Amino acid sequence: MPASSTVRRVWALDAPELTVDCSILMLGTGGQEDTIPSPSFLVEHAEGLLLFDTSLATSGAGDPAAAYGPLADAFKISIPEHCRLDRQLESIGCKTSDVRRIVLSHMHFDHTGGLDLFPHAEGFIGAGELRYARTPSSLDAGFFREEDIAAAGKIAWNEVPAGYDHDMFGDGSVVLLSLHGHTPGTLGLKVRLPDESTLVLTSDAAHKRANVEATTGMPFDVDRLNKNASLQKVKLLRTQPGTTVWISHDPRDWADFRPDNGEITSAAELNRAAAQA
Ligand SMILES: [Zn+2]
Repeated sequence: MPASSTVRRVWALDAPELTVDCSILMLGTGGQEDTIPSPSFLVEHAEGLLLFDTSLATSGAGDPAAAYGPLADAFKISIPEHCRLDRQLESIGCKTSDVRRIVLSHMHFDHTGGLDLFPHAEGFIGAGELRYARTPSSLDAGFFREEDIAAAGKIAWNEVPAGYDHDMFGDGSVVLLSLHGHTPGTLGLKVRLPDESTLVLTSDAAHKRANVEATTGMPFDVDRLNKNASLQKVKLLRTQPGTTVWISHDPRDWADFRPDNGEITSAAELNRAAAQA
């Protein structure tokens, strides 16, 4: 198999955090706070670096209210200086200008904060997502940040239709998964690593493992029917041999799967390490 047909490695970049009541993450729960990561994942492919989601704004490092105003307190946002997206890229020897492609899972503010760092990149986003961010329903209007919508306007986007999975390089190594329902165009990412193991990043198709296990969404999902179908899709992906499903916001997945240096070359190894933990 040619080298271009696999991803060489993935980094789970060290992430800022939000602390929220668990009722925001799953219907039918509440009364307990969860501290969840707001991650970005960097993928190294022979065709160049690809970033999946852009976390929170660098301008909020050390002072989240400077970037997020009242949201900073409402979501107890924490952005340590070393978790700035540009600093994280520097820590592994990359510059923001090295990132050639951005895949955005959706336009909620905890995924779009670093878009302003990548005006040069080619973008991939779910169809309708940008339009929705500009004219959202009242349900989730508070989750979109004007500065990020403006930054998105400087990126050339390719839109992935809902219900369609897109094989980015035509070799099966990086597949954008349609997981709509949380928002109109929510995307996940499936990558094949050098040992042929597969890593699936769910983004906000699920917020915690319990969402998948109970096929239960969260209060701000815009389309319950398709959200449940996407949760079923994630559940099925978990049954595929050699596949590790990483629920991006789940603190348990973060604790179980993220290596100390963030670098992943085998999804199968992540599963083994998690089972032994
Ligand atoms: Zn999110």
